[in-house]
Amino acid sequence: MGKMRAVQVENPKGPLRLVEREIPAPDAGKVRLRVQSCGICHSDTLCKEGLWPGIVYPRVPGHEVAGVIDALGSGVVGWKEGERVGVGWFGGHCGFCESCRRGDFILCSNIQIPGISYDGGYADYMIAPASALAHIPEGLSFEEASPLMCAGITTFNALRNSGARAGDVVAILGLGGLGHLGVQFAVKMGFRTIAIARGKDKADLARKLGAHQYIDSQAQDVAQELMKLGGAKVVLATVTAGKAMSATINGLSADGKLVVVGAAQEALEVFPIPLLMLRRSVLGWPSGTSIDSQDTMSFSDMTGVRSMNEIYPLDRAEEAYERMMSGKARFRVVLKMV
Ligand SMILES: [Zn+2]
Ligand SMILES: [Zn+2]
Repeated sequence: MGKMRAVQVENPKGPLRLVEREIPAPDAGKVRLRVQSCGICHSDTLCKEGLWPGIVYPRVPGHEVAGVIDALGSGVVGWKEGERVGVGWFGGHCGFCESCRRGDFILCSNIQIPGISYDGGYADYMIAPASALAHIPEGLSFEEASPLMCAGITTFNALRNSGARAGDVVAILGLGGLGHLGVQFAVKMGFRTIAIARGKDKADLARKLGAHQYIDSQAQDVAQELMKLGGAKVVLATVTAGKAMSATINGLSADGKLVVVGAAQEALEVFPIPLLMLRRSVLGWPSGTSIDSQDTMSFSDMTGVRSMNEIYPLDRAEEAYERMMSGKARFRVVLKMV
């Protein structure tokens, strides 16, 4: 049925190449999306740089996909052609592993990830299992929806499952792609929201995002500042620096939690006594499933939470990817197909 554009990685560390491919047809249980936009996430390096074992190349990256259902495979129920949907990091589960049998699909030992397990969203069309789909509300454009499918759900779902209650002190460590969403979500969830980042110049951004207070980690002692507020019930760590995460632990309240969502390659340093004396804990949070993505979008639509995006056309994917890698993008980079 005709051709489409796709941007693929042909071998690990190879360039992103714009190619023409056959438009694929959906198998049983899957749908075809006419992709409208796809965010570029730092985790796309797993495909581009060959960091995830077992990827079969060529592979089309992309797991912040927003589009329209264009064709249904046999046996798909509950979804219809023309419906606006997103696909995120959670791209399907096996149904038979222990986690799946316990209903905890995000921990599936055979989890499928778009752009890693199968071709993702850097293309005009994409095939996805129906179980990976999240409905996009009318109030969100495709470009607004895309970053919510990974950066958004990761911060939203970690915060709403953190145990923090309205009025509690919640600190967001980092004001980048994840952090600028985390601050907005925390404010809208009713937490006393503290933004922590490096440098005086981030104070304005923190205020603009709604933070009640800003801590400059270069000029202030983060733990001390948090303890002046009685300690943080939750610190959501969105940075990729283990040291910066460790520096917040002594700023946690009794039963306070350091919730890690930033994929740092650096070790965390945790001293046992301050941890045990106040029953503090450190834990990680792995985004969420398709219904969590749908909840993220619905909440964002309702409260006005939006990612700040830099938009590029699909044929400039390489440049857009470099922009994301530079760390200079404010704050998410999104490919727009048309
Ligand atoms: Zn991602
Ligand atoms: Zn499973």
